[in-house]
Amino acid sequence: MEGDFIDEVGRKFGYDAELINALKRCIPAMIEGKSDEEIELLKNTLSRVQIYTFDKRPTQKEVDDITSEKVNGRNNHVTTIECDKGEYDRGTPCGGYVNQPIFDENMNIVDRVGFIYLTNLDEGSSTAEFYGTKINLSHLIHELGHAWSAQKGEYEQEENGNFTMRVGTARFKHRVDRINHTVEEVSIKGLYVEEALNSIEEEDTLYKMFDIESYRDIPGYIPSDYQGIMTSMMRHYKDKLGEDIFQKMRLLKEDDGIERFQKYFDQTEFMKKMSEPEYYVEKEKELASAQETNMSDAAKKRIRDFFEKYRSLYLTPQNNNNFIECLDSTMEQVFSFMSIRYSYDIMQEDGMDAYRRTQIAMMSEGYKPVNEVSEMIEEKEHDSIENTSKTIERDSSSDDDKPLGEKRIDSKCVGDERDI
Ligand SMILES: [Zn+2]
Repeated sequence: MEGDFIDEVGRKFGYDAELINALKRCIPAMIEGKSDEEIELLKNTLSRVQIYTFDKRPTQKEVDDITSEKVNGRNNHVTTIECDKGEYDRGTPCGGYVNQPIFDENMNIVDRVGFIYLTNLDEGSSTAEFYGTKINLSHLIHELGHAWSAQKGEYEQEENGNFTMRVGTARFKHRVDRINHTVEEVSIKGLYVEEALNSIEEEDTLYKMFDIESYRDIPGYIPSDYQGIMTSMMRHYKDKLGEDIFQKMRLLKEDDGIERFQKYFDQTEFMKKMSEPEYYVEKEKELASAQETNMSDAAKKRIRDFFEKYRSLYLTPQNNNNFIECLDSTMEQVFSFMSIRYSYDIMQEDGMDAYRRTQIAMMSEGYKPVNEVSEMIEEKEHDSIENTSKTIERDSSSDDDKPLGEKRIDSKCVGDERDI
């Protein structure tokens, strides 16, 4: 992408030289290894999504004011009912990609708004010095990543007015009442997978820009809640299942790659276990292990309350049998569980031990389905290759026409399986 293009975007939105310069440094690293189609999507994102920077963390009102300005009264006839986002939604973050559809009088989506806001680093801070700018490059890359992955197919509306908002792998389903002009967010799926994937992109971009191997090499860097456990789990998924599949799902909204894992997932032990009540009895015992320590009663109660509040997430048989949703739910469990550590008094040694044991149990849940699926694929590939070579052997020693036909089908199958 040419620097001229970024200058042009800068003029359009009135960016200062520092932001333009930051974009010119980040974008080449962000697009390295991406396809032409994906790069084109990023260009369109930059032209569509304005970036606002604040010297101190903006209030919710300041962010809402930007939204109102962009929407410009076009949604005055619409009432929005929000969905509970659980631990994900804790106050106004210091940066974000904010988006909204615009409705006509019949509740058809006719336009969309989207913008990014960021909080600058303290001038003279060690991170700002390392970056060579007060623009928070890590947040800039992260929010641009979400906006980029929302560029294609952000809103998919059905005949009845209901729509799905897709930001990368995250799907926010909304019910629309065309008569009463209400929009209700009914479910959110794939959000944690999106955050983990986007955080990996953010890390890898920084590593390329600064020639470092870990975010720990950035002075004063504060990792987000997604970095660490969630990103390492996701890096493992990418290694086991293939990088491309996740990238295509995020940026191009191509789901066929991931859908092909479903049939393997359906056969896994993990999948069978998820529907067995005994499994949840055992799990409840594991999660309750904190109750057997001598931490304070108040802390024990908080932990009990936490699992009651999130019973449907941790302790109820999962009714979604979707592979990506299953990965998402295990990630959400780990993510929400981490919030206990921040809010509650469990840092005493015995409490810590129960906490660690529970966390490890949850993480192994996250790895199990992926490992099982990849093992099955490997086995299948191995079998197919053996079968094909047998067919070839038989072919060379036989004058029968029939195996030749079979061979063609076989080799096509092998090709398909390898494609995953
Ligand atoms: Zn994010």
